[in-house]
Amino acid sequence: MREAPPYDDLAAAWRALRPLGVRVREVACVGAPRTLLFAELGNAAAPMVSLSAGVHGDEPAAPWALLSIVRDGLLDSRFAYRIWPCLNPSGYVAGTRANAEGEDVNRSFSRGGTTPEARAVFTANRDRRFVMALDLHEDFEADGCYVYEPLRPGFVPYFSGPIVTALEDAGFPVQELSDKFDLGAPPGSEVAEMYRLERGTVLVDYEVEMRVFEGLPSSLAFMYRGTPAALTFETPRPRPWDERVAAHRVAVTTALSLL
Ligand SMILES: [Zn+2]
Repeated sequence: MREAPPYDDLAAAWRALRPLGVRVREVACVGAPRTLLFAELGNAAAPMVSLSAGVHGDEPAAPWALLSIVRDGLLDSRFAYRIWPCLNPSGYVAGTRANAEGEDVNRSFSRGGTTPEARAVFTANRDRRFVMALDLHEDFEADGCYVYEPLRPGFVPYFSGPIVTALEDAGFPVQELSDKFDLGAPPGSEVAEMYRLERGTVLVDYEVEMRVFEGLPSSLAFMYRGTPAALTFETPRPRPWDERVAAHRVAVTTALSLL
């Protein structure tokens, strides 16, 4: 398996996008000796989409997929974008899921953020409204791609079905999901109520997940703050690097096309 390129290469590749109009900067992580890459693209008056990757440091194809999407001009110009190219740089460098303090950053979006990374995101997004948030991940146990779509009460799935179809049409493997598949939820009686599994799709009961998760994932925090749709894409870590990058490209562009 191809190793993840160094983090410095990722940061340099983002800075190299400045001539394309991508506004790239480093955001301070208060209380930690590191910064987060942050990029903005498009007319700020347009409806805004949040894109992020790398919140788990051992899922390296996701940040490189996000870079390639921006670099190749695949983002729909109807929207403005606020982009977190790698939400957990210390984990990326160490090749660990958690950050340097051993925290799962994607369980730290409760309250004002319980890690320096989550606090940096909340600070940067203060008073912002988003029409969608997309978060790119990878899964070690999976052999196919899948999508999380959290649903508020009374809502029916809208995005995940067409995204799975697009992945399939493009020739990517789609994950079979059953109760035996580990989705990393905390143990408890409510977990069974939380997820409705379809092929390639995890439909999440937003209200149950809000109760069950002690530390919120970023997707739920976006929804809590009014973002209508917050999707998480997973590619299978055991598959070839280029395939995982390509699958994320299809998932992101399809999701945007449905808005
Ligand atoms: Zn992950």
